[in-house]
Parts: sequence; C-alpha cells; structure tokens
Amino acid sequence: MNGKVWLVGAGPGDPELLTLKAVRALNRAEIVMIDDLVNPAVLEHSPNARVIRVGKRGGCRSTPQAFIHRLMLRYARQGKAVVRLKGGDPCIFGRGGEEAEWLAAHGVESELINGITAGLAGATNCGISLTLRGISRGVTLVTAHTQDDSELNWHALAQSGTTLVVYMGVAKLADIRNGLLAGGMSDGMPVAMIENASLPFQRECRSTLGRMQADALAFQLKSPAILVIGEVAADTSALPQALSA
Ligand code: SAH
Repeated sequence: MNGKVWLVGAGPGDPELLTLKAVRALNRAEIVMIDDLVNPAVLEHSPNARVIRVGKRGGCRSTPQAFIHRLMLRYARQGKAVVRLKGGDPCIFGRGGEEAEWLAAHGVESELINGITAGLAGATNCGISLTLRGISRGVTLVTAHTQDDSELNWHALAQSGTTLVVYMGVAKLADIRNGLLAGGMSDGMPVAMIENASLPFQRECRSTLGRMQADALAFQLKSPAILVIGEVAADTSALPQALSA
C-alpha cells in the first residue's frame, strides 16, 4: 500500500501562522521534507518524524527538483506518511501543483494544504491593507523571476489599477522599475519592501517606484523579501485622509 504525501504550506515564518490542518499533518508525519524558507520552529509539531532538508533558495546551492520528486516517491512507496513542507502557500510560487501532478502520474495520492503566503503576511504585518476600499480594487501576485527569463507584461500590470505584490524581486529592482515606468506607472507610486515578513527580525523600507532601487541599496535589502507596489503602500500617516476621501 502506498503512503500519501501532504504538500503543506508552513506560512511565512511566524509559527503561529501555521494552520490547524498543517499542524495535524505534521503531527502524523513520518517523513518531513522541508524547504529552507520554512521556519524550523514548526517542526515541534513533528516530534517523531525523520526530517530531510531539501532547500533550494534562489542563488544558493539547490537540491534538484527531480531528486525531491524521487525522494517523495520512494517514501510514499514505502507506505510512509510524507509531509512536503514549503514556505508560505504551496501553490503560490511553490511548485505545489507541479508536485501534486507528478505524484498523481506516479500513482501516489497527495493533498495540498494551504499556508499563508509571504506577500499577504508581509503586508498585514506592516499595516498595509492590500485591497483597501476606495484605494485598491484588487491585488496581483507576480514573480519577478521566471524559469525562462521571459519578460512580464509590465505595461498591463502598470495599467491594472491593482496593488502589485512582487515575489523574488530583490535582484530585479531595476527591471521592475523600468518596466512599470515604461508601462505608465508614476515614479512616485508608493512601494513597501518587506524582508523576513512575520519573523522577529522583519524589516520594512517604505519608498517609491522611482527611488526603490537606491533605497533598497542603502537599506541593504536582502532576500527573502516582497515588494508591495501601489497607493496602499504609502506611509500609514497618509491613510486616514485617503480613507475619508
Ligand atoms: N510559496 C512561498 C513563496 C516561495 S517563492 C509563499 O507563498 O510565500 C520565494 C519568495 O517568496 C522569496 O523570494 C520572497 O519574495 C518571498 N518570501 C518567502 N518568505 C518570505 C518572508 N518571510 N518574507 C518576505 N518574503 C518572503
């Protein structure tokens, strides 16, 4: 009898942001395969599991995806309860869908368990309401980093009128700025850059589209960080006025 793989979101870092469902899956896990953006503190819920680190941070040495696939398969075929623990949400730039499909193609049952994605947690922790009524009609989650280096449609994003939350953007600030400016976004558009969202050492830097690259340099912004680009990212002192408008 095959085991099962739970593809679990561990949330952005703060262990209190774990879902009850994730805690339950961790609790019954025999094997936990953990990415390196996951706060190891959540492993307290898996006291009996064998923990395997399969991190693959951008720019660092990585565990090839094929190896991770094979490892999940091997343990599932041994009948084990496997938790594949990912930062944030497994399906937001987390390959959760890919892994679920691959497992299904190999006859292994899997289940996805949501986590709170870093962009949402980061904004909330900085007091930013991503869809603040009267200011923002929506939110768009984008990655600045694509597998094939293809360009995003910055013009459409600039014109969308939604708050943009950019993942994996730290090394791409110039491209993001240039793309959005060329797409017609104002260089004064507020930007919040949020590093290590929800962790005790979270840092935030408020800036604007035009200044964000220089400000990030001065701030020594490091990955993991998300960018919130939109009126809602303005310094909170400006909000009461905007709310009453
Ligand atoms: N599945 C994850 C995203 C993985 S992609 C999620 O839903 O959150 C990795 C990117 O996520 C990083 O480059 C960074 O942009 C963002 N990220 C992950 N954890 C973060 C954190 N604690 N603070 C800020 N950004 C984070």
